[in-house]
Amino acid sequence: MSARILDGAALARTLRAEVAAEVRTLARQKVVPRLEVILIGDDAASRVYVGAKGKACAEAGIRSTTHSLAATAEAADLAALIGRLNGDDDVDGILVQLPLPAPLDPRAVLDRIDPAKDVDGFHPFNVGLLHQGRPSFVPCTPAGVMVLLEREGIALAGAHTVVVGRSEIVGKPMAALLLARHATVTICHSRTRELAAVCRQADVLVTAVGKAGFIDASCIKSGAVVIDVGINRVDDPALLARLFRGDAGRSAQFAKRGYVLTGDVDFASASEVAAAITPVPGGIGPLTIAALLANTVHAARRRRGLD
Ligand code: NAP
Repeated sequence: MSARILDGAALARTLRAEVAAEVRTLARQKVVPRLEVILIGDDAASRVYVGAKGKACAEAGIRSTTHSLAATAEAADLAALIGRLNGDDDVDGILVQLPLPAPLDPRAVLDRIDPAKDVDGFHPFNVGLLHQGRPSFVPCTPAGVMVLLEREGIALAGAHTVVVGRSEIVGKPMAALLLARHATVTICHSRTRELAAVCRQADVLVTAVGKAGFIDASCIKSGAVVIDVGINRVDDPALLARLFRGDAGRSAQFAKRGYVLTGDVDFASASEVAAAITPVPGGIGPLTIAALLANTVHAARRRRGLD
């Protein structure tokens, strides 16, 4: 069997066009959504993500500003900035790019964001609503996965879904969303026994682990849908050879950059067993940004009583 590729990049283009159309509609009511992004420190990956978010906002007609703070920024400086943005009626969404440099405590920082502007959906108020099955702002990555499953017509009611990973930003909200769609949900983590056997029960398998090629065909039931959230750098030639033997494109990329990006799933082996699978890159990553744009428009509408 060769799995159908679930093209997240193509769907993300559609979703971004839908958001842009909604922004144009809002503009006729003199509303232009505004997102404020806070970037602390000089983590290279975070800079890339923040740059991509800013570009996507501009293309959709959403105003956005990035506030760059030094890695040495004090918690009090950050609190003051968030307080100012909370109080600015012209600001619809506030996003603090994670991870934060030590010793900043992400929970303490995220707790300060006004829940009505919490477009990442990480504030405990919004987390609570999600787990009660009445979501307001849903974390962008699992929100993107849900849109993909819905638009691809993948049935969830009664299906056994297995989520590997229990982070606050992916695994836990993913499980809550699947449960709300009446799936039977199993959550796995580093202490799970017989992981491969548990994963093999999945009709829909979602992986958010952070380990390149961790999930292979031995973890996948024949005909399952595989959603690979992982984004991992492979800079070890032996791992490259194991995962991408005979893939000229990846080898050329590796030779040029010294690394390639890949998911948690060993794509070549998994594709032989799964019915459908997301690639990395070009799967869930682009959908995450599309979901952020949608959340920002949602905030702009909600704050003006337009929803
Ligand atoms: P995280 O906070 O590090 O969580 C990783 C999870 O994987 C943890 O729950 C951990 O279990 C579990 N895990 C680790 N080793 C395991 C093992 N051997 N067996 C079973 N479970 C294991 O990571 P995250 O922030 O959720 O991110 C996960 C991956 O998704 C990363 O590659 C990240 O780059 C990617 N990501 C992608 C997007 C996107 O837009 N596509 C967005 C966010 C994240 P414990 O809880 O027991 O430690």
